[in-house]
Amino acid sequence: MAGSPPKYTRILLKLSGEALAGGKPHGFDRPAMQAVADALAPVLAAGVQVGLVVGGGNLFRGLPAAADGGDRATADYIGMLATVMNALALHEVLERAGLAARVMSALPVTGVAEPFVRVKALAHLAAGKVVLFGGGIGNPYFTTDTAACLRAIDIGAQLLLKATKVDGVYDVDPLRNTTARRYEQLDYDEVLARHLGVMDATAVALAREHALPVRVFDMNSRGALLRIVHGEPVGTLMGPAADGRQT
Ligand code: UDP
Repeated sequence: MAGSPPKYTRILLKLSGEALAGGKPHGFDRPAMQAVADALAPVLAAGVQVGLVVGGGNLFRGLPAAADGGDRATADYIGMLATVMNALALHEVLERAGLAARVMSALPVTGVAEPFVRVKALAHLAAGKVVLFGGGIGNPYFTTDTAACLRAIDIGAQLLLKATKVDGVYDVDPLRNTTARRYEQLDYDEVLARHLGVMDATAVALAREHALPVRVFDMNSRGALLRIVHGEPVGTLMGPAADGRQT
């Protein structure tokens, strides 16, 4: 792998807000954010362009927050602002680690982030900068999984990488069931029909519509990101040509 050209030259990485919190229930964990920088560094050094969508779950999620009768749209806007906060926090860590990065937001917050403009995002990527897409898609009633699919399609990413706490997609929860089996590959329709919870249905439908391959993997597995951009079958691939094989 070392020295060989990467299989993918432009990727979109989706990190949940929880990935920035490490083991903590809320907020930021600097070592966890530094681990993201450490994983990205060799990928960028290999010449891969990286877009990054970060969630907001470590700070705020709209749907549960509105469950007590609060206004859902307002809660979602707060959630989108949480994703901007995460993008800003991660940006600072990446820059400090020597990785050039820019924050673009779909929700206008011009004092702290550039507005999302596709051609500018492409220029940043071409210049080797990590582009952190905050603010989701800028509308309530959506998730950052959908934003990740949308931005991946927008920037022409060859692969969407969804980082999770487990090493792929299982038939049942592997943290609770020792007989859980991991899928190597899945079709979009299987994910929807089996309610596998890879991403929400809107995101899966968008990926299916554009035949966007999505690889689900464990971000905490050392070197996984680099192996994936070199074409290694790490985790589970959700894509158009699948046979549902399980390991
Ligand atoms: N959100 C939204 N529109 C979007 C993306 C996100 O309204 O396009 C809000 C929504 O309230 C969501 C919150 O932002 O709960 C945080 O995003 P998400 O739940 O996807 O974060 P993650 O679970 O990935 O940490």
